[in-house]
Amino acid sequence: MIWPIPGTRAAHAYLLQQPDGLVAIDAGYVGSDGAILRFMRSRGFRPEDLKWVVVTHHHVDHAGSAARLCAQTGAQLAIHTADAPYLASGRPKELMNLWGAIERLPARLARFLLTVGGPIGWRLEDGDLLHGLRVIHTPGHTPGSICLYSEAESAVFLGDVLNNERGLRRPPWNVNHDHRKAQLAARHLLGLSYERAFFGHGPPIERDASRAITRFVGELA
Ligand SMILES: [Zn+2]
Repeated sequence: MIWPIPGTRAAHAYLLQQPDGLVAIDAGYVGSDGAILRFMRSRGFRPEDLKWVVVTHHHVDHAGSAARLCAQTGAQLAIHTADAPYLASGRPKELMNLWGAIERLPARLARFLLTVGGPIGWRLEDGDLLHGLRVIHTPGHTPGSICLYSEAESAVFLGDVLNNERGLRRPPWNVNHDHRKAQLAARHLLGLSYERAFFGHGPPIERDASRAITRFVGELA
């Protein structure tokens, strides 16, 4: 079972129910943890039913509430190895922290711009399987951007690899760590078959999603 979580800020977050507990896929911008906990309660779950918070990449609109959500539930945080350094002080000085300038802000301000880290339970690699979700490393938007594929649910979670805000699109150059790689990242999904696709931004595709995405990626070639 997959639910889009209502009320998260900036980017969408999703809840996946597995036989052995719940997995959150992304956690929304800073301050979204309350909405996620409220939604869990409304479905009859307890905070401790959440086992993992998997973030598709380190950006604050996707991962900003992740550490706090973990702290409140006991869930563990999972992020790709290549994005893990962006959750710690001394993070790489790149585009998203304006080459280090944001790091010099007071912490109470910086947390609205950069994801505050916490203990990382799993540094993900391509091909890892976490509670039925297969990790597909799709670098470009960030070095450790991932898509997550559930064969059982016939679904893929794309994070910001593609968005569906006004039809399928790739993220614009000014938010990508490596724009050339980001342009090609969705190619890593070719060959997979899935009915549904869930995006960080924009509504899901509920039917025949792999066909729509394969066609989109083919047109880019
Ligand atoms: Zn992003």
